Amino acid sequence: MSIASRLKVGVDVPWVTSWSEEAQLGVAPCPSVDGELAVGQATKPGVGRPLYSRNHLFRQRKSVREMLCPMCGKPTAQGDRWSQTATATTAGELRTRGFGPALPAEMADDQPLLNCGAIAPLHRACADASLARCPHLGGMADRTLKPFPKAWVIIPLWIEAKPPSPLARGVPAVSFLQLVGVEDR
Ligand SMILES: [Zn+2]
Repeated sequence: MSIASRLKVGVDVPWVTSWSEEAQLGVAPCPSVDGELAVGQATKPGVGRPLYSRNHLFRQRKSVREMLCPMCGKPTAQGDRWSQTATATTAGELRTRGFGPALPAEMADDQPLLNCGAIAPLHRACADASLARCPHLGGMADRTLKPFPKAWVIIPLWIEAKPPSPLARGVPAVSFLQLVGVEDR
């Protein structure tokens, strides 16, 4: 039997975090990626126990596509988007790492980018709260909150779908979405 947790989603546990009762499902067309094939996951946030190291597949994609704060799940507005874990990079560096096809061809190699990985930017208030609560974030050497730029690129991370999904015979499917901010020049 699944037990509702006393931990509150969006307060004690980030909205984007997976829960133990949220089983991974097969591959299917998903609205979070405009109907492309993506890996699904059951939706039962707050049931069982939180799996802090695992983002929920659907909520993660939704957070990046719709700029929802991964902590509270509500939309972030331009000017109140912050990242602690993002790292500075360039278009050239990402191209070297094989992400070239996801970047606009006309983007110069020296274009500064802010690689947020799979973590959409947070509200300032939510970032401050999670920094105070989360031992992992609090222990990071770089505790500076970086402002998220006005423009960005989304890079789908593909996996090879496997049976039992009948759709999945070596078909690529989206797992998570990677978010890369494009800095002003
Ligand atoms: Zn928030």
